[in-house]
Amino acid sequence: MPIAPIKLKIVQTGEPVLRERAKPLTLEQLQSSEVQNLIDLMRETMRDAPGVGLAAPQIGAGLQLAVIEDRADLLEKMDPEQLARQDRHPLPFHVIVNPKITLMGEPIEFFEGCLSVRGFMAVVPRAQRVRVECWNERGEPQVIEAAGWYARILQHEIDHLDGTLYLDRMYTRSFMTEDYYRHAYSR
Ligand code: ZN
Repeated sequence: MPIAPIKLKIVQTGEPVLRERAKPLTLEQLQSSEVQNLIDLMRETMRDAPGVGLAAPQIGAGLQLAVIEDRADLLEKMDPEQLARQDRHPLPFHVIVNPKITLMGEPIEFFEGCLSVRGFMAVVPRAQRVRVECWNERGEPQVIEAAGWYARILQHEIDHLDGTLYLDRMYTRSFMTEDYYRHAYSR
């Protein structure tokens, strides 16, 4: 009896799909068992990584779809002072489809990484607040108003749907290995 795969391969920078603009989904495509199954696999792949967001191009699918989750049980193990600085709070699992983003507020700077640029970090300026109009996984229209780390996650994931990586926005001289970052900047 075949065993269903529980996670997908996350493609790394260099793969053309990461540099292409993803295609919008129709309601019919979104509601198909194929795409609903893909969402389940993306959730498991993100949790396994682990990451707080995963966009469809990162698993090789050029679709305007991303999953997001910032788990309370993982945040509890992190430095509370750093979480406060980042304005980072738990986020339940949710899906964004065909998003349109509006950036608001002054840019703020933090280190970030990407599951498709494995092993590295850099300082990336991002808008402090965003407004996102999208569909959820059922195709219901949503408006998300976000600030702080959630706003950063949304900007990072929606960039993926435009073929943009944080490498395009980072301060290049802050680029470093994740190992060095952990050694020097966090505890
Ligand atoms: Zn990424």
